[in-house]
Amino acid sequence: MSSPAADVLSDPTTLKSLIREVPDFPKPGINFYDITTLLKDKDGFRRTIDALSEHYRNKPVDVVVGIEARGYFFAPAMAHALGAGFVPVRKPKKLPATVRTIAYDLEYGTDELEIHADAIEAGQKVLIIDDVLATGGTASAVACLVQMLGGTVAGLGFVIELSFLNGRKKLAGHDLFSLLQY
Ligand code: AMP
Repeated sequence: MSSPAADVLSDPTTLKSLIREVPDFPKPGINFYDITTLLKDKDGFRRTIDALSEHYRNKPVDVVVGIEARGYFFAPAMAHALGAGFVPVRKPKKLPATVRTIAYDLEYGTDELEIHADAIEAGQKVLIIDDVLATGGTASAVACLVQMLGGTVAGLGFVIELSFLNGRKKLAGHDLFSLLQY
């Protein structure tokens, strides 16, 4: 029987055709995977959420964490599909209450991320969602934040995995799932 995830995994070309590749953005040498063209396509967006959610259908997830900014396009829809809550991880100085902060390396530069200190309860099962897995620095920093709060990382899900950057290696030991690989 076919399923949303099986459909995408056996035919990634249809979804890939909805992703716009922008060379040299935001700086020379970076090939930017623009998912706004996927988001505006009603079938493409639905298939993306259905296929990603299906991977976690039989795994308990209490909270879906979305990473600012493009993780927010997918994580709340995933939380809705899985019957979980949504928690934003944000860039510094955006969250109003007490936060925990972590510094991390990017494919292009360095940055910090924050989470509300009371956003996750000890023992909660947390799914981390972002649009693109590149070097894995961002996602592994977010996994650390979740663990700092006592949460258990139930999985990390991405629409796109840039396999040649080996981000998966930084996240060894976690359930890491991506829909489209480049
Ligand atoms: P990294 O920490 O290297 O895995 O980078 C992941 C973060 O940077 C994600 O939040 C992505 O949105 C963004 N990112 C990194 N490289 C790209 C790329 N080539 N195209 C689009 N987004 C990217």
